[in-house]
Order: sequence, then C-alpha cells, then structure tokens
Amino acid sequence: MKFNTKVIHAGVEPDPTTGAIMTPIFQTSTYVQSAPGVHKGYEYGRAKNPTRTVLQDNLAALENAKYAIAFASGLAATDAIMKTLKSGDEVISTNGLYGGTYRLMRRIYEPFGIEFKFVEMGDAADIAQHFTEKTKMIWVETPTNPMLDIIDIEAVCKIAKAHNILVCVDNTFASPYLQTPLDLGADLICHSATKYLGGHSDVVLGAVVTSNEELAKQLYFIQNATGAIPGPQDCFLLIRGIKTLHLRVQRACENAETIAKFLAAQPKVANVYWPGFETHPNHEVAKKQMKMFGAMVSFDFKTDTMETASKVLENTHYFSLAESLGGVESLIGHPATMTHGSVPREERLKIGLTDSLIRMSVGVEDVEDLINDLKAAFEYL
Ligand SMILES: *Cc1c(COP(=O)(O)O)cnc(C)c1O
Repeated sequence: MKFNTKVIHAGVEPDPTTGAIMTPIFQTSTYVQSAPGVHKGYEYGRAKNPTRTVLQDNLAALENAKYAIAFASGLAATDAIMKTLKSGDEVISTNGLYGGTYRLMRRIYEPFGIEFKFVEMGDAADIAQHFTEKTKMIWVETPTNPMLDIIDIEAVCKIAKAHNILVCVDNTFASPYLQTPLDLGADLICHSATKYLGGHSDVVLGAVVTSNEELAKQLYFIQNATGAIPGPQDCFLLIRGIKTLHLRVQRACENAETIAKFLAAQPKVANVYWPGFETHPNHEVAKKQMKMFGAMVSFDFKTDTMETASKVLENTHYFSLAESLGGVESLIGHPATMTHGSVPREERLKIGLTDSLIRMSVGVEDVEDLINDLKAAFEYL
C-alpha cells in the first residue's frame, strides 16, 4: 500500500457488527465476558480500546513499523520512553530540543539518576566523543525548533549501532509524510500527534512507534501499567485527521516555500531559516532524508529588537499569534518570549535565536492571502 492510501485505509476496516464505514468511538471502560477469562480480546479500557487499536495500527503503517502505542500527549509518549531507562543510564540528546522534552529530562528524570547530555548534532561524527559505557540512547529531533537545523538521522544511527546504542527520533515536525526514521535505522519514533498528524488543532495526543518487539512489549506494558492513555474520542479525531495528512502537509510545504522566498526578498529581513534553501547548512541532508522541506519557517530582522517582531506579530490577521504548530491554520510565534522564554538570552543568541526571531507554522490557506497578510503587517515596520 502506498502512503497516500495508507493514511485512509491502513488498519481501518468497516465495523464488522454494523458496517459503519468510519471507525466507531468505543466509549466504554469495560467489556462483557461470556465466562471468566473468555472475551473478544478486550477486557478493560486502560489496557485496550478498539478505536485506539485502529489508530495504533494506522500509525504503525505510516511509519513502516510493526507497532505503535498511543498516549495521552506527546510528552506522555516521551515519558513512556524515558521509563524504559534505569538509574545510571545516560542519554545523548540534540541541543535544539522541544522545551517540554528538555524539562521532562532535566526536572523529572535527572533527579531519578538518569543523565542527559545536550550536544550539537549538526555533524553526526561529533557524537561519538560523548559516548560512555552508560550511554543507552540518543535522542534526535529534526528539524529542530525554532532554528530548523537538520540532523542526519542515517549517519547518527550508523554511529549508534556500532556502539549498541538505541536511537529515538522525535518526528513531530516532519510527520511520516516527509520522513520515516525507522527506514533510516532508528529504533524508536516519538510523536506529538497534536501537531501535523491531528492537523486541526483540536486534540492533544502522542505516540511511540517501533519495529523492535522487545521495546514494543515494554512500552505496551508501560502504557497499561502507568495509564497515560488517550480517550476513544481523541483517537477518533486522530484517525479522521490523518486521512488528509498527505494533502495537508504537501500544501503546507508548498505554501512555506513561497513564503520563505518572499521573506528572503524583504529588505528589512536579516535571516530566513528554511531547509529548502541551497544556502541552508544542512540542505543536502534535508534533501536526502525528507520528501519536502517542511512547513515551518523562521526569520529575523536587521533591526533586531522585540519591538520589531511585535509589529509583525500583532498585525497579521490570518497568521494567529499562538503556541503549537501543524494545524490547517497558519500560526505565528515569538520563540524568545514564548516557547524558549525559559532559555537564558546568551544561550539563545548562541544558536541564532535572536530577539526579533519569528517562527511560523504555515497552514493550508491560499498562499496569496498569506503573503498579503505578511505584506500588510510589514507596513507597520
Ligand atoms: C508539541 C511537541 C511535543 C509535546 O507534545 P504534546 O502533545 O504537546 O505533549 C514534543 N515534541 C515536539 C517536537 C513538539 O512540537
């Protein structure tokens, strides 16, 4: 089955009892047994739910994987992966990490005795110097947020494999339409399905995907034992959202390209960060591992102040000022005060996250309207 068919059909069959073409929302906490221990595979809602099963089978297919395990949020999925580690283990992580993942690692798991090193992964060969015999996992997020650096997943996996270290890729920003990390050698994928997979900014959900049977067993056990499951209604919304993943992401990427090029031609703009530019330092890697270049674009101004950014942020109409990304509607944000507000200014500036940097999640509206929206806001500069 090809990707564009999988989003609609993989794991999804009409309901055998009624013929309902769409997966029903099985809003039930328990299931009847005909005799003690005799049931249809479902005993209790935390352990298993038919709507969730369909979503999990679909997600596994999209990532060319054997197993997918759904969680209540992207961070609950990440948390489940952390629970496969033990005190004394070490994790090497990308430094341009989603803030919530960083907080989970530093504030929740470091006190339990798991060590985290946050390193530059622009050149995969640099990672090995950080390995010790305690290193158990490499955590990769690509494209990074908000600088949109690209990490070479295949190169990282090759080095990790030689040292028997697991690689987990947070595939939220790319979505499986653009990149499938297991095919590049990764062991685990983590998703905030809240973003592109859901695609309509109406549900919070997460998933872990793997083809490793041992890891899958452990993660199913953690899902049931610790209980951070998504509700059946949310699983339904995900199944529904995913049906248009290919159409949405493709159009959003096309719009992002047009907008990135428009921004690059603006005299007041200093830098435009978008992996599709040939001048992007990791452009070749992006071309190799991604189908298109993503729908996230960041840029900053020659007059690098928060006030400059505010003039644009406060005067767009279709681009709404909000956290999050990956919905059909375009969003615009200010990383220095929003997503990365807790990172000290010197640290921010070191990675190019300037005071005037603006991050956009480009949606699927008519691109002419989006450009005109930006043009009108630029008039205030
Ligand atoms: C949003 C996000 C998360 C966290 O997901 P939630 O669904 O909000 O818990 C993790 N990683 C990335 C890259 C994200 O953008």
